[in-house]
Amino acid sequence: MPDRMLFRPTKAIINLDAIKDNVKALNDYLGNETSIIAVVKADGYGHGDVETAQATIEAGAKMVSVATPEEAVRLREFGISEDILVMGPTPASFAKTAVDLNITVAVAGVEWLEKACLSIKFDHALKVHIKIDSGMGRYGVRDVESLNAIINFAEESSQVIVDGVFTHYSCADMDQCETTDEQYANFMNFVALFPKKPRLVHASNSAATLLYPDYKLDAIRFGIGLYGIAPSEYVGKKLPFALKRALSLETELAHVKRLEKGASVSYGATYQSLDDEWIGTLPIGYADGLRRGLRGQEVLIGGKRVPIVGTICMDQCMVKLSEEMLVGEKVVLLGKQGNEEINMEEWAERLDTIPYEIAVSLSKRIPRVYN
Ligand SMILES: *Cc1c(COP(=O)(O)O)cnc(C)c1O
Repeated sequence: MPDRMLFRPTKAIINLDAIKDNVKALNDYLGNETSIIAVVKADGYGHGDVETAQATIEAGAKMVSVATPEEAVRLREFGISEDILVMGPTPASFAKTAVDLNITVAVAGVEWLEKACLSIKFDHALKVHIKIDSGMGRYGVRDVESLNAIINFAEESSQVIVDGVFTHYSCADMDQCETTDEQYANFMNFVALFPKKPRLVHASNSAATLLYPDYKLDAIRFGIGLYGIAPSEYVGKKLPFALKRALSLETELAHVKRLEKGASVSYGATYQSLDDEWIGTLPIGYADGLRRGLRGQEVLIGGKRVPIVGTICMDQCMVKLSEEMLVGEKVVLLGKQGNEEINMEEWAERLDTIPYEIAVSLSKRIPRVYN
């Protein structure tokens, strides 16, 4: 992609080597029998879809997967030539494009195949992975008749190749959860119904891959872990190998002033200085994904933690400095500086959400810079 000239110092720095190291460590952990499907949906969890897809493939991932047809088409447009699986539902009208671009789709009912195939003759066969709903209750086949209908349709049609079958766990990231074992058993009962085993039988997301090595099967779908983020605090404590974080979010002090005691800061004048204070202004706000609820969250300046004070604006926010500092001083919102580190989990806790949501809500306005 062409380099744009950057003026605003706010940027997300993505360390592709960290992503590659995570893939290599994962490959060593999995061994030769299980291949990696790199999950790069939602713009690579905010890290850049094409860049992370490329990095994971270079490091040994055999396939990439996304959630929507548009995400898959974009990867092809930008030159990703490996197999791509769209894991979520697609409209039958996507089938022609899927065939033309060699994109594999997830199918959960014979009606979809009938709609997709009956009115059209493809140039090549359409590759599908049959999705089994083993207990997640989201998308997939839930009964034997529906599965058999799909298998029979595919056997009689030269238009369809069943390349894989997969399921998705609902609770693999949690402590004391029997549903993962139940879902695995349920899934394997469905897999046993295939007259011929499809090439790729896969079930595990990051959490299941890391906690249930016995369930790794032919492939695993690794998302959040690629980016060095543990799926949950519980999984984070039980990691079989270290994960390296790939993203840091940085900016610079854009303005510094001394406020006299009692002066107010930002919309609503809800913050008043308790004393004479040094206040810095950062060129980042909620339009960048620095949510208003992050008021009070600390950032790193000069290796120290300082708090965001007052209401976070759309494009700017203010921090309370411990001393006078110069415009241009580096500020780390996510990442390391000196001995301190602020991670997405810390933001997630403050916002009562999970790090996944933090990663995908850093907005498009923040340029991603790769190193
Ligand atoms: C998002 C997703 C994944 C990846 O999950 P992580 O927890 O990020 O590893 C795997 N499979 C499906 C079906 C998904 O939707």
